[in-house]
Formats: sequence, C-alpha cells, structure tokens
Amino acid sequence: MPIPIRPAVASVPPYKPGKPAPVGPDGSSFKLSSNENPYPPLPGVIEAAQHAVQRMNRYPDMANAELTAALAAKHGVGDDEIALSTGSVAVLYNLLQTVITDGDEVLYAWRSFEAYPIAVQLTGARSVPVPLGPGATHDLEAMLAAITPASKVILVCTPNNPTGPIVPHDQLADFIDQVRDDIMIIIDEAYLEFATAPDRARFDDLRRPNVVTMRTFSKAYGLAGFRVGYCIADPAIAGAVRAAATPFGVSAPAQAAALASLAADADLLARVEELIKERTAVVTGLRDLGLAIPDSESNFVWIPAGERTAAWAAEFEAAGLAVRPFTDEPDAGIRITVGEPEANKLVLQVAGTLKP
Ligand SMILES: *Cc1c(COP(=O)(O)O)cnc(C)c1O
Repeated sequence: MPIPIRPAVASVPPYKPGKPAPVGPDGSSFKLSSNENPYPPLPGVIEAAQHAVQRMNRYPDMANAELTAALAAKHGVGDDEIALSTGSVAVLYNLLQTVITDGDEVLYAWRSFEAYPIAVQLTGARSVPVPLGPGATHDLEAMLAAITPASKVILVCTPNNPTGPIVPHDQLADFIDQVRDDIMIIIDEAYLEFATAPDRARFDDLRRPNVVTMRTFSKAYGLAGFRVGYCIADPAIAGAVRAAATPFGVSAPAQAAALASLAADADLLARVEELIKERTAVVTGLRDLGLAIPDSESNFVWIPAGERTAAWAAEFEAAGLAVRPFTDEPDAGIRITVGEPEANKLVLQVAGTLKP
C-alpha cells in the first residue's frame, strides 16, 4: 500500500521557478524571470563567504548571533525581535506553522506572490484570495470585508509581486487599526529597498504585537542563492519563528555574506539607484507604447497582457529573454525583472513589435 501523504501536501501545486534564459537569434540571453539582482555580490562579500567556507566541517552559529545583532542595530530593535530563516519564504512557512490550526483562514490579495497559496495549503489552512483593486493595488476595504471569525493571518505584499505598486503607509496603518488584534498581519517587504514613493510603509510606525515585517537578502542585496531572510516582530512571535525554523538552516557562508552586505550599504544604494533609473525607463517606454503598466516600486514591471499573455511571453522568449508569464485569470499578465541596461533595451525593443 502506498504511504498515505497528508492531503494538504499531496494537493500542493508545484512552485514554478523562473526558467533559465533562452538564447535569441543575435546570441542575447537574459534571465528576467525571478526578480534577481543582475549585479555581482557587493564588495567584500565573496571574501567573507570564502573565509567562512573554510570551516564547513563545523555547524554554523545556530543563533545567527552576529547577523541578528547587526540587523537589530540597523532597525533600532532588540535582538529578540529579529528571527532569521533560509529566505523570507522560509520565514513565512515558520510564521504560519507557529499560528495555524485546522480550519483557519489566511487572507491575501490576489494576484500576489505565487508562494502564498502553496505556503498556506501546506499548513492545512484555507486560502482566502481577495481580488486586487484598480491599478493592481491591494483592495484593503475588500480585505477587511473578507475577515471572518476563522481568519488567523493576513498577508500584505508591498511592493506587490508581481504587479509592482505599494500599499501606502497611511492606508496600511488604518487597515492595521481595523483588524482584530488576534489576527497576525504579515507585511512582506521583499522589494522595500526599491520603493521610492514618499508614502511607502514605515515599519517602525506600524509596529503592533500582531504585526510582522518580513525582509530578505535575496533581491536588493543580491544574495538569492544564499537563502537569508528575516522578520521583525514582537519577541514572542520572533521566538516562535526561531523555534520553528530548521536548526542551523542559515549556513555560515550565508551569514557571513549577509553581514558583509550590510556593511556595504553605500554600494548597495548606488546599485539600487541604478536599477530604479532603469525601471523608470522601462515603465515609461512601455507606457509610451500604449500599455497600461501599473506603477512599479520594485525591480520588475507588470504587463497586464490578459489573454495575450502566452503569445507575448513567447515573443520575449524568442528574443532571448526569460520572463514570467501568469496565464491564469483574473489578472493574467507578464512580469519582467529589471535587469542590466542591454536586457532592458531588448525588452522595450521586443515590446514595440508585439501585436495587440
Ligand atoms: C522574492 C520574494 C521573497 C523572498 O524570497 P526569499 O525566500 O527570501 O528568497 C519574499 N516575498 C516576495 C513577495 C518575493 O517576491
């Protein structure tokens, strides 16, 4: 008899990672499908990681003490308010694991990060997706209206992956004030460093015992392959995440690389500014072609291509650009990461040839 797999696990749709880049007719090949940083690691990061590699026979520091202290100092919080895991997706799994029991509901805007429905389903909870409002933004009124006695967690993704807009600070603060305080509100800020809008969320003004902020080293910091993410939360919640996390999950080279990255803040800022300039050029270029591109406060742009999604994605692929099509409705479209300047130029070139 086959081993019975828990239904919550057996029915999980597999996560689709970004495809490797195809090669275009002129030899162009760019991976713009996973919102990765196109730059090499920040100065000092490779050296720090290599130094740590020499001790691979030893377990890493399970408490991530040095990195935790550096993050606590950066954010002006206590060490006990930080919890690390292997990427912020792992932090999300750990957070859900600490609060979900059977019959619970988890609310999130949709379309949003494709990891959310998977993470929720694995816990056995029920996903309650709430359609995005105009401009591909979170519809906070509709989210409030979707709260039931079974609601346990609300996910807010700002800037929203894959559509790009932020949830403005004041709206988010009002929203938090209106949510029951026994519901955990997780604010996923994976792309925060790219948000330039003056009304982007200020986490220190949104701190409540039930509010958790998630951050990652995978995007702006360019450490996607090293798997380091964390949350800032009430000490009780941060402690629970540490208890639920895989022991020794964040490797010593990853901890060292993250620490060295934090120390290279000025270089980070310069790269982020460069990517923001490129993003502006891509958004403007696509809008000039008549495409209804939502505001992007992240390192990607969203083409709401609807039923043309598959056909248009094929055009980008044929030119050597790996992009991320989402063909299921509502809100079918194509997410394209802002990459190196040559890649972005090619994006605009291909976009100019698309048939409406
Ligand atoms: C990329 C991303 C993350 C971070 O993933 P890691 O596990 O830290 O690599 C989290 N949330 C969103 C919305 C993302 O797009």
